[in-house]
Amino acid sequence: MRLELEGITKRFGSFTANDAIDLVVEPGEIHALLGENGAGKSTLMNVLFGLLKADEGRVLVDGDPVRFTGPRDAMQAGIGMVHQHFMLVPVFTVAENVVLGDEPTKGGGFLDRATAAQRVRETSARFGFDLDPDRLVGDLPVGVQQRVEIIKALVRDAEVLILDEPTAVLTPQETDELLGIMKELAASGTSIVFITHKLREVKEVADRITVIRRGKVVGTAEPTASATELASLMVGRAVDLTV
Ligand code: ADP
Ligand code: MG
Repeated sequence: MRLELEGITKRFGSFTANDAIDLVVEPGEIHALLGENGAGKSTLMNVLFGLLKADEGRVLVDGDPVRFTGPRDAMQAGIGMVHQHFMLVPVFTVAENVVLGDEPTKGGGFLDRATAAQRVRETSARFGFDLDPDRLVGDLPVGVQQRVEIIKALVRDAEVLILDEPTAVLTPQETDELLGIMKELAASGTSIVFITHKLREVKEVADRITVIRRGKVVGTAEPTASATELASLMVGRAVDLTV
């Protein structure tokens, strides 16, 4: 799926969090959204996912303008989002969490619990780990809980996955495992929007990098760009990373 955001502007009162942002996400690419805290990254993705309504601009899916009135519309279009703060219910099992809220699949279908459990097994096996659909989510380590969130999107046939600062809560080993999962997903055609402010991770997995500063796109870069160059784009002045 090809996503285009054109001239997205989002204001909170008199404050402009997103100022005429253009962004294209190609099929199967890992597109990093890089920027300091408060740059407007989450706001932009919340607009894309239908959680916030843009004041200006439009979203196109495979060239057609779409109007998402809520996350359900985004999910039906094949977009999944994993928020920085997980939306899981700890006292429910993995499978129960996956069907929680009757969220639609791409195309608008729904999953029953048995199908969800089966797909959880298949999807986790595909990434080389074993996730028991009957385990209580609250008993799982944070890194595994995050995989539940990712799987919750994947079992709905999401073709675009938005990951909002997914490594913030992970150990270094969990981070490396997640980056591996992201690469596998992209290789199989899933597009990933990867929000982060960590340069190392961006350089390791991103196919393309869009840098956002104070609500504006200030540059796009290839992962071969130097860390100094990227950091300078992020903060708007020369940065010496050797100190
Ligand atoms: P990032 O994800 O890049 O850290 P955000 O998109 O969360 O940044 O926030 C961008 C700016 O918009 C911040 O200054 C933040 O305080 C402000 N902001 C975000 N959400 C709201 C809101 N619901 N109401 C008012 N201001 C908001
Ligand atoms: Mg954010």
